[in-house]
Amino acid sequence: MIEESFEAKGKRKRLIEELRGKGINDEVVLKAMGQVPRHLFMDDAFLRHAYQDKAFPISAGQTISQPYTVAVQTMLLNVGKRDKVLEIGTGSGYQAAILAEMGVKVYTIERQRELYRKAQVMLNSLGYRIHFFLGDGYEGQPQYGPYDAIIITAATAEVPDKLLRQLRVGGRLVVPRGDRDSQVMTLYLRRAEEDWEITPHGHFVFVPMLKGIANGNDRD
Ligand code: SAH
Repeated sequence: MIEESFEAKGKRKRLIEELRGKGINDEVVLKAMGQVPRHLFMDDAFLRHAYQDKAFPISAGQTISQPYTVAVQTMLLNVGKRDKVLEIGTGSGYQAAILAEMGVKVYTIERQRELYRKAQVMLNSLGYRIHFFLGDGYEGQPQYGPYDAIIITAATAEVPDKLLRQLRVGGRLVVPRGDRDSQVMTLYLRRAEEDWEITPHGHFVFVPMLKGIANGNDRD
């Protein structure tokens, strides 16, 4: 583990208390979020704000999710040690680190080459063993499936059937579903081979899930 200041640790502790105050009550998730140094996943310009409960810009016109959002998505996944999770949208790598910290086997896909590279360097340096893929999350990663859970960290109106079929029976997919401006966090529980139970879990705002491997900054 990289050495870090008492200041970062103290700020992180306060963030965890803030999340508890907002109703996050999963101790396993809170413990993992208390361990992972979020400031290492942020651009220098925003370092001072790393332990605020807010989303911030990262490279390629993308964002690191708000800690509250990370907590909600991680709770809904309901996974534990050695479960296999596919993440769509590696971004900064922070969400992947939280899952790895919980002992989950993480497979993560990113369509932005720069983010794919940066996240790999950071997560490797922190000692997390994660499987990284540069690709289009709409295709999933069937060769390593089926997964115990799939987490999509970008907004999409349509949840691809291909992804729903990479879940094992009993598995859970969590996705912010909706248009550009507002999405509903949606849980798909695969109850049987051809039966998905769908439940809503509040409003959120994410960057959009886009098709194909990127050819530059998505906000240019
Ligand atoms: N989980 C990230 C959040 C990143 S924001 C974190 O903890 O920081 C969403 C990310 O999804 C962006 O990096 C974006 O490039 C990526 N993305 C969007 N569409 C995608 C797709 N089809 N396949 C893979 N990644 C995608």
